[in-house]
Amino acid sequence: MAALVLVAFPSPLPGVHRFLQSFWGRLGGRSSPWAPALAVQGPPSLLEHVEEKTESAESPSFLESIFWMAAPKSRRTIEVNRCRRRNPRNLIKLKRNIDVCPQCGNLKQKHILCGYCYEKVKKETYAIRKQMGILEGGPHKAPTVETVVLYEGEKPREKDEGKRIIERNRKRPSWFTLD
Ligand SMILES: [Zn+2]
Repeated sequence: MAALVLVAFPSPLPGVHRFLQSFWGRLGGRSSPWAPALAVQGPPSLLEHVEEKTESAESPSFLESIFWMAAPKSRRTIEVNRCRRRNPRNLIKLKRNIDVCPQCGNLKQKHILCGYCYEKVKKETYAIRKQMGILEGGPHKAPTVETVVLYEGEKPREKDEGKRIIERNRKRPSWFTLD
């Protein structure tokens, strides 16, 4: 903030001095216009605040329009902070239900489907559905009969009569069992 001190000395010309004094009196100045004066440059917000107060008492003031938030009054020590951060409820829990997948040997959670095996099933199912789509030749053309998927070296059984047969040109995966 810059402070500016205005110090005025008596005018060298008495006629001009008298004229200025009368002019100052007409303006409403009480003391002598040539007395030492202090002019301080302040932020414009302060000036606006004063103007608002004089203009209308209903509008909220500058300080009232600020949303005040709670601020901590003192610093928390490192012990308190570490106790909070290293609280058992904030730490990662150890998982003791990890098991080996009997199909692929990867680790998986107990009682939960193995992600690797599920990915394989998804890929194979997607391939079968694609083959079925090519056979049908377009959407909404699926036959009303059941569908049987046969892999290399497999022949349709007796109960598969009348069913639609999808032949895959690969060996049957061990995890894709025939019903
Ligand atoms: Zn698996």
